[in-house]
Amino acid sequence: MCTLFPTLHHSKPPHPCLPLNNYSSCSFHSSSLTFRAAHCTLQHRAIRIRALDAAQPYDYESQIHANHQNSTKLKIAIIGFGNFGQFLAKTITKQGHIVLAHSRSNYSESAHRLGVSFFSDPHDLCEEHPDVILLCTSIISTKYVLSSLPIQRLKRNTLFIDVLSVKEFPKNLFLQILPLEFDILCTHPMFGPESGKKGWKDLPFIYDKVRIGTDQLRSNRCERFLNIFAQEGCKMMEMSCMEHDKYAAGSQFITHTVGRVLGKLGLQSTPINTKGYEVLLELVENTSGDSYELYYGLFMYNTNATEQLERLEMAFDALKKQLFGQLHDILRKQLFDSNEGLDATSPTKTKPKASSIAETLT
Ligand code: NAP
Repeated sequence: MCTLFPTLHHSKPPHPCLPLNNYSSCSFHSSSLTFRAAHCTLQHRAIRIRALDAAQPYDYESQIHANHQNSTKLKIAIIGFGNFGQFLAKTITKQGHIVLAHSRSNYSESAHRLGVSFFSDPHDLCEEHPDVILLCTSIISTKYVLSSLPIQRLKRNTLFIDVLSVKEFPKNLFLQILPLEFDILCTHPMFGPESGKKGWKDLPFIYDKVRIGTDQLRSNRCERFLNIFAQEGCKMMEMSCMEHDKYAAGSQFITHTVGRVLGKLGLQSTPINTKGYEVLLELVENTSGDSYELYYGLFMYNTNATEQLERLEMAFDALKKQLFGQLHDILRKQLFDSNEGLDATSPTKTKPKASSIAETLT
């Protein structure tokens, strides 16, 4: 039996240039040296599925392709192989998936260490026909990166996924730029290299199946990707991008902002740290590890962020007013109490007190 076409029991294999479904009807000159040479070479070559568009569902290529699609392992291409892209790659490769990467900078060495194939040229990466394109670029560069990807070189039904910390923006971008054949999954792993360094157990993973084809191959592929995170113990939460952004502005953006404000204060560890203070120091460490570009993206590309920043400022002002209001009352009381029983003809006695109060108030 021909090793290239094990499911077919013809005595002669087809010429490689002939379409497979013409195979049984064509005639060969088996004595032809050319044919024999080609046959021998082909017998020892690994099977590669080509021209799938021309194959019928019952053809061998289609069946192999279907089996490949059903296997649990995915071929995932990470676009943007910086801090977060590499962090994800570690776990994805550990689970046995094939990982490819492309980035603006050359990360060949770190990719090699992680068992990832690095492609400086995005055309070469797309020609590898990954199952998934995983966008890990900075929020503010995503539009440019996505628009410059040669998506015409991908398989027609590639699954596009992003991990951006804002969700409405990439969702709209995907819908706007990607042809209808591509599936879209928007996700946000709500942890990073710092908070997830000891494992991902119980860490939240948010996702929105924006456009996943109804056939089983497509939905399986999406589930297999989600399973990477479920398998690590993440808390899987399905949520619309809009809902995510509303919650994230009130939680994540505020966390990053407070962390950065405290970072600017230059907090130092002391010999008498309380538990609460330790938490603050940890917050500063966690947030300062992320790039400023990431923080700026959280502000610029989440429409709810400005409102949260204003609320934070108002809350700070309200607290200050409360403190100083109380101080005013105490000082005013002291001022009038100390004036009581004083000789009105000797104002000098009250003057130092009044001026120090005025200084305190300003
Ligand atoms: P980042 O500063 O947000 O993004 C860095 C990545 O963006 C690098 O791969 C970088 O490529 C690429 N990039 C930046 N400007 C570019 C440009 N003009 N053209 C092409 N590529 C450009 O830091 P990050 O922490 O790695 O985050 C990546 C994504 O993951 C972000 O969207 C972020 O919101 C999301 N995310 C991060 C975390 C986290 O904890 N860090 C958690 C969840 C989600 P080069 O390195 O090649 O220059």
